[in-house]
Amino acid sequence: MIELIEVTCPSCGSSIRSRRRDMVYRCESCGTYLHVMEGREIPVKILAFQREMKGKRIHIPFYHFDVEAEILGERNVGLLPKKGVQGPASYYIPAGGDFPAEKAIQFAELASTRLSSSVEEAYSFGNSTPSPVEIDIPEGKKMAEFLFLYFQVKKRGILQQISYSFNANFKELLYIPFYYIPRSKHVLSFLKESGFVPGLRSLR
Ligand SMILES: [Zn+2]
Repeated sequence: MIELIEVTCPSCGSSIRSRRRDMVYRCESCGTYLHVMEGREIPVKILAFQREMKGKRIHIPFYHFDVEAEILGERNVGLLPKKGVQGPASYYIPAGGDFPAEKAIQFAELASTRLSSSVEEAYSFGNSTPSPVEIDIPEGKKMAEFLFLYFQVKKRGILQQISYSFNANFKELLYIPFYYIPRSKHVLSFLKESGFVPGLRSLR
């Protein structure tokens, strides 16, 4: 059975019907993209390609979280204890699609440190294909917390103990452009076997 979904465009009030769950809907009247998850509309942003390459164009969805975290106390080996407020910061967590799960944390680290706010927004996917969203927001938040801890371990050496407060607020679903080029020389070293080449200059 095909499940029909009908939602109202937040920009112009038109009805949007779709046959699929967990996909981006496009309003035929005004061109707005929206995404519905568990019956709720969530904001979506599509980033434009900044590099021209030969390869299959895809947009991979990432959850953008505004993270506020605070280190309450820690004990580590070889370093003086440090206290610090870590937020607010933007974290970008792969939301599924074809992105290889084992590279997700490395890419999330790269995106969270290098993705600038000056990236250009696209108004459509154009000749690119959006990948489906495969994890939900609570799961994305768990990954964001894992990334936060990963950052602390990297910064501080061997952590024996850490207590912290962590809060990730979902901001938007961000579609980051990629080329799929197997065995490309331009692939980031940790993405090498996967063949995904970021279509943004800052993520080269
Ligand atoms: Zn509309």
